[in-house]
Amino acid sequence: MSSVSSSLASTLKRLQNKVAIITGGASGIGASTARVFHGNGAKVVIADIQDNKGKSLAEELGPNASFIHCDVSNENDVRNLVDSTTAKQGKLDIMYNNAGILGSTMSSIPDKTKFEIDQVIGVNLVGSMFGAKHAARVMMSQRNGCILFTASVCTAISGLLASNAYVASKYGILGLTKNLAAELGPYGIRVNCVSPYAVATPMAAPDQSKASELEESWAKMSNLKGESLKAEGVANAALYLASDEANYVGRESGNFNRRSKRIGATTATLFHKNGA
Ligand code: NAD
Repeated sequence: MSSVSSSLASTLKRLQNKVAIITGGASGIGASTARVFHGNGAKVVIADIQDNKGKSLAEELGPNASFIHCDVSNENDVRNLVDSTTAKQGKLDIMYNNAGILGSTMSSIPDKTKFEIDQVIGVNLVGSMFGAKHAARVMMSQRNGCILFTASVCTAISGLLASNAYVASKYGILGLTKNLAAELGPYGIRVNCVSPYAVATPMAAPDQSKASELEESWAKMSNLKGESLKAEGVANAALYLASDEANYVGRESGNFNRRSKRIGATTATLFHKNGA
């Protein structure tokens, strides 16, 4: 656990006794969120296709963490993830649909194969929708819950940052977030997404020996100077959105405040650091 999350954990448990599922929880932003949620008192279920990494993170975190193999693009896996969690814990408070893949950034639209389009949309968008569907099934009868997604900064600035299929999937998540906030608000369910800027996770920096170099160059390109975004920054934004402090964020049932749906990690991290 990093010094930031351990000091948080010792002062304030913002998710005490909440049950949280994090898809894509074995690596990068998801793994960091699993640590931060766990450090804040949540019972954390790490869901991923990387079994070894997921299991070892759950073991490292201890008794309030577990791993379940889940390919989010397979609805049966997602149904099993939600059902086995609620059977064991008796409820589901937070469903963080974070798993994602980049797809090829090299091929332009005329060269895009149906296989790749299906794969990127299938994991990023359809997988997130399966997560929301099965979480909502449980949360609607509980009459409360929090659904989170990971979108991307590419929905706010030039789409050329990432591949066409990836950008399309992330715009889909943004639309889904707004739609579900309206649909599920009457059931006491809040729906939000984070839209991170570039983070040097294994997805964005497959050669991890170059991670700091990349972070440095991305920090230069970012609007906010003096900070470089880390996975923990996004995890802290997710923590705020998952906590009771955000109890009116993502609850709208018709009038959308676009800014509240597009809380970027950078902004939320700054708020967080300033105690907001
Ligand atoms: P990462 O590669 O470190 O983590 C992604 C995780 O998702 C991995 O553990 C991977 O095994 C898992 N995953 C992939 N396919 C899956 C599937 N079918 N079912 C279940 N799990 C699956 O990358 P990351 O950067 O932590 O990505 C997390 C999310 O953040 C993604 O949705 C990504 O699009 C988004 N995002 C990342 C960045 C960035 O710069 N890293 C920026 C904006 C948004």
